[in-house]
Amino acid sequence: MHSDLIGKIEKARRYAQEPERIAINELKATFHGGNSDHLITLHENHWSCDCSFFRMWNTCAHVMAFQKIFDPMLAPEAREATSPITTTDEMAVAMS
Ligand SMILES: [Zn+2]
Repeated sequence: MHSDLIGKIEKARRYAQEPERIAINELKATFHGGNSDHLITLHENHWSCDCSFFRMWNTCAHVMAFQKIFDPMLAPEAREATSPITTTDEMAVAMS
């Protein structure tokens, strides 16, 4: 194999250990939820999900899962829940 390419492969291996190097600007994904699939988008650091919970609360389990998975790659605005929910108790009630 060409030595230049070997160097790039080694660099990629190092980069893959440093997810904070990556900043996700746009994202569109299908989330396989418990009952049905949901379309999730991240646009200008604002999340959106087509589930009914999101419409009411501006966040949902799908978005929160994404925030956990992609945390190092998100801008501070996109890391935070945009929901008015302040306690996990409130969240538990809302999700039941
Ligand atoms: Zn959702």
